[in-house]
Amino acid sequence: MATVLFVYAHPDDESFGIAGTAMKLKDEGHITGLLTLTRGDVGMWFGRETGSWTPEELARERSKEWREATKVIGFEQCRLLEWPDGGLRDAPIERVTADVVQLIRELRPDVVCTFGPEGAGSEHDDHRAASLFALRGFHRAGLADQYPDRGQAHQAKRLFFNASPFVADFPIIAMTPTHFHLAVDRSGTIGSAGDLFH
Ligand SMILES: [Zn+2]
Repeated sequence: MATVLFVYAHPDDESFGIAGTAMKLKDEGHITGLLTLTRGDVGMWFGRETGSWTPEELARERSKEWREATKVIGFEQCRLLEWPDGGLRDAPIERVTADVVQLIRELRPDVVCTFGPEGAGSEHDDHRAASLFALRGFHRAGLADQYPDRGQAHQAKRLFFNASPFVADFPIIAMTPTHFHLAVDRSGTIGSAGDLFH
């Protein structure tokens, strides 16, 4: 049995990318956790503004949706932080890394999984930043002299990046997946190949 911590930028990142994998892992008896770094308060709807909602109203709604999604997916431990949505790349790197380190030291995962450094096919700056923070946290959580006030050192064994499969006519180059973990959707059929590890 393994423990896997997923680290992402926004409420919904856990649902569109790795939900099937996380559910399959749970079904197989593994423990899963989720760290989401922002509340998604400047989110858009297919590139458009979300009507008359204020950022705070949107954050509240997305936090609620996030909570419901985490229950469905079955994460054992979840944390939703309030780093700036749309500005994660400019967030104080040491403080965000310390937050990642803290959850790694609490959950003590075998595996940490996040977006690839290119943003897992979306090239979204927040996604890229989440990948960087997860990478830093992964390494630093294992060093006792790093962030000593954030728990006891723990070195996870593997860091996985989830990637998108190549899509013709989609002008984004994602990293080439090297491992496949096919999700089974909840109706019992093989789902999309959205869960690709490398
Ligand atoms: Zn996102």
